[in-house]
Amino acid sequence: MKDLVIIGSGPAGLAAAIYARRAELDFVVLEKAPMSGGQIVDTYEVDNYPGLPGMNGFDLAMAFRGHADKLGAAFESAEVTAIEKKEDGTFLVVTDKDNYETKTIILAMGASHAQLGVPGEDSLRGSGVSYCATCDGAFFRDKTAIVIGGGDVALEDALFLARGCSKVYLVHRRDELRGTMILQKQVKENDKIEILWDSVLTEIEGSAKVEKARIKNVKTGDEKEVETDAVFIAVGIVPATDFVKDFVKVDAKGFIEAGEDMATSVPGVFAAGDIRTKRLRQVITA
Ligand code: NAP
Repeated sequence: MKDLVIIGSGPAGLAAAIYARRAELDFVVLEKAPMSGGQIVDTYEVDNYPGLPGMNGFDLAMAFRGHADKLGAAFESAEVTAIEKKEDGTFLVVTDKDNYETKTIILAMGASHAQLGVPGEDSLRGSGVSYCATCDGAFFRDKTAIVIGGGDVALEDALFLARGCSKVYLVHRRDELRGTMILQKQVKENDKIEILWDSVLTEIEGSAKVEKARIKNVKTGDEKEVETDAVFIAVGIVPATDFVKDFVKVDAKGFIEAGEDMATSVPGVFAAGDIRTKRLRQVITA
């Protein structure tokens, strides 16, 4: 019987592991991904973590993991498939490997990128359609790329791609960006980035790889084809709540309802990081 099982090893899970170790709890961190760190592993630069300006996301993730390791946190590679509450109020965490009995649980499974659901998105995935500019951007050096979205990720992606690409279109469905002001300014000042306002992607075309994208202006209804080698989709995140959405209360978008005390609707089960209902999703708030 463990004191605690932490599910997920992004910034929230790793911070929980550091605190749990210092509290001398008997616990384990279960991680599904081949590597700790969550979404920041794919982030080129995390420029708002206090004390570490311009930090590379992967390096920050490794530093968090190194901190937890140094304190002696236990990690197991396993995919959780279910949580069962027992009559005595303790829990059974069921995984594809071992099962764990525990008194408490921290859900820190984070979130992953949302899909748009347009024709060509699935069929050309990996052939020019991508959800990770830092992973795939290098393939499009001196080429044209389109980024869809107006949030922080889309702006960061556009800026990252503009380093190597010859041209970057940022396609946003409104006439105002959502992302942080400092990123907005950098995007607007970048000569290689052209913003297509009030516009949505309706189709991605290409036989073996991305060749064109159909872009529709939502105000005028006009549609045009834009030649491009890549389409990077950054239209938000979906919480990884598959095995808990019927176990704890979630909101309309699937995020786990929990306040600043992280307590969910089930006593003994807590939620931390991007998976939780909150106003601001950042590493520092995770
Ligand atoms: P986000 O902030 O939710 O932005 C998603 C963007 O995609 C919005 O501009 C949205 O348009 C657009 N969008 C959503 N659905 C769409 C659709 N069907 N068609 C066209 N456009 C669509 O998501 P995110 O950029 O992935 O960021 C996720 C979270 O991580 C946010 O809380 C963000 O602040 C945080 N984050 C922070 C940093 C940082 O601080 N440096 C870096 C990365 C991420 P609307 O604007 O019209 O809604």
